[in-house]
Amino acid sequence: ELANSNKEIASCVKAAVRIRPLSNNEKQDLCQTCVDIQRATNEIILANSTAFTFDHVFLPETNQEDIYRECVYDMIEGCFQGYSASILAYGQTGSGKTFTMGSGIEYMDPSKEGVLPRAIIHIFQRCARYEHEAESIGISMPKCIVSCQFIEIYNENIYDLFNKENTDFRSQKTIDKHVVFENSNGEIGVTNITTRFVTTADETLDCLREGALCRTTASTRMNSVSSRSHAIFTVNLQFERVIASISKPDTNIREQIRAKIHFVDLAGSESLKRTGATGQRAKEGISINSGLLVLGNVISILGDPMKKGAHVPYRDSKLTRLLQDSLGGNSRTLMIACISPVDRDFSETKSTLNYAQRAR
Ligand code: ADP
Ligand code: MG
Repeated sequence: ELANSNKEIASCVKAAVRIRPLSNNEKQDLCQTCVDIQRATNEIILANSTAFTFDHVFLPETNQEDIYRECVYDMIEGCFQGYSASILAYGQTGSGKTFTMGSGIEYMDPSKEGVLPRAIIHIFQRCARYEHEAESIGISMPKCIVSCQFIEIYNENIYDLFNKENTDFRSQKTIDKHVVFENSNGEIGVTNITTRFVTTADETLDCLREGALCRTTASTRMNSVSSRSHAIFTVNLQFERVIASISKPDTNIREQIRAKIHFVDLAGSESLKRTGATGQRAKEGISINSGLLVLGNVISILGDPMKKGAHVPYRDSKLTRLLQDSLGGNSRTLMIACISPVDRDFSETKSTLNYAQRAR
């Protein structure tokens, strides 16, 4: 029993690896692949030599639905038990992070939809079931309250993707506008951020598309910005649960349940590296991405039962500070490491596998 519950705690952080298919260009260039998987042991084999073990491994053929069913579905179900969740896509630019998370805009083919649109539909189906169940046993329950926020972190500044005016990277006014705070219940929030209350999946998908467009089209942006920023779509869930009273079996006690789900499309992992003081990045005033660095440290502490009680450096970056109440504790975290199969990406792939390995 105890061993089981320890295992439960230890496994609150999971890591999956997804290998994307070869692109047409890579096929034309006759690129060789340098990764393979061992299904039975959940291993990724790099260059026929190094093996990395993960909670889930996915071949290039794996479709979007399989990913959702195998590693996301249970996390969303868990939210309806009150467990918050964070789902993060990690990897070098071009490895499939945005494809995996889904932005709701690029595909007409619903089978190509990523994690986020599927989760949104799942959440509203689950809300409807919850309301229906209460009704069928004759209890009048308030509806589930669902709201969402869409935030981008760039250069340790926070931007509101639901407010076009607040996505101007050059404006000091926007930079100072949004600050992460913690209330007396330990809940994390951001000042002056737009919260959209939503009642249907379609409405939520519209919000997602709007923010995703804002991320890519804001006029003041450089092309490469989205690869160096983190995009965080957050769904807040609030509902009531009826629990039987132990002292008075005839009376029901109502309990307020809240859960938060963060869907994070992380900055390209190549920005984790310092490229020398005279390199292009230095000229742009961009050094190492502290969000990715600190996230790696936080997740490795959370994923290691031997480090239970250790100081977790949430406060060392905006990203981890923002995710603090949904990483660790009573929450579940899934890191989906996206990798390219191609030999010319070998060193980035290796560093991605090493990073994701720390999560478990
Ligand atoms: P990232 O967000 O990590 O920079 P993208 O998600 O934009 O990468 O993926 C780069 C390209 O590869 C896109 O054209 C995307 O559609 C394609 N792609 C990525 N993963 C897959 C996959 N699993 N199946 C099919 N196409 C993919
Ligand atoms: Mg992307």
